Amino acid sequence: MTQDTYLWTPAPTPCVAVRGSAQRLPVRRLFFVGRNYHAHAAEMGKPVDKSVERPFYFTKSPLTLTASGSTTPYPSETKNYQFEMELVLAVGKAGFRIPAEQTHEHIYGYACGLDMTRRDLQLAARDKGRPWDLGKDVEHSSVCSEIVPMPGKVMESGAIALSVNGQVKQHSDVSKLIWNIREIIADLSLFYHLQPGDLIYTGTPEGVGPVVSGDQLHGHIDGVGEILLTIGPAAA
Ligand code: MN
Repeated sequence: MTQDTYLWTPAPTPCVAVRGSAQRLPVRRLFFVGRNYHAHAAEMGKPVDKSVERPFYFTKSPLTLTASGSTTPYPSETKNYQFEMELVLAVGKAGFRIPAEQTHEHIYGYACGLDMTRRDLQLAARDKGRPWDLGKDVEHSSVCSEIVPMPGKVMESGAIALSVNGQVKQHSDVSKLIWNIREIIADLSLFYHLQPGDLIYTGTPEGVGPVVSGDQLHGHIDGVGEILLTIGPAAA
């Protein structure tokens, strides 16, 4: 593309680092699973009965992607900005209506993620039956660590934890996912033609809570790695 093609320079492709590689993973879409740990669903006042429910999803713009180690502004129009520590799955192979037993073929690797949320706006929207975008599709809110390549590996367990200023806030295990990795890929692929570079944030365990400017967040998932985020001053 020459500079004659577009009116102005297009935004760069959102991307994340890959452990052990000089090449970066180009990100296509960001999917998020809602209420995927029982104890978190309960703390949100919306317990899940898997026998009669299906998973649900929301999306965020890839422009919200933010690297681990960043300092991000405290966003506008909220008084309750919250952390959600999550396991992130990177899709490495296209697929549609993927049978559960084949889902592993579509896994490129995993990362640590933070699904930062304007909780006050999310809950107001939820309770009025409005879209979640202002609560969830927040600038700088999709924080992601480097991707760890694990082609074909279905993660079934591993401690997941988040601390704020050294104090543990969330501590659970990936084995407690209501809909596991295979079930998420199989179900989401009924709705979307999954493509390489799609990232799936798999949901947060209990213990979510607010941050303030100056807070330092440190997340960890056994077998994957770490994630860091500093909350900066209010957005200017
Ligand atoms: Mn989440």
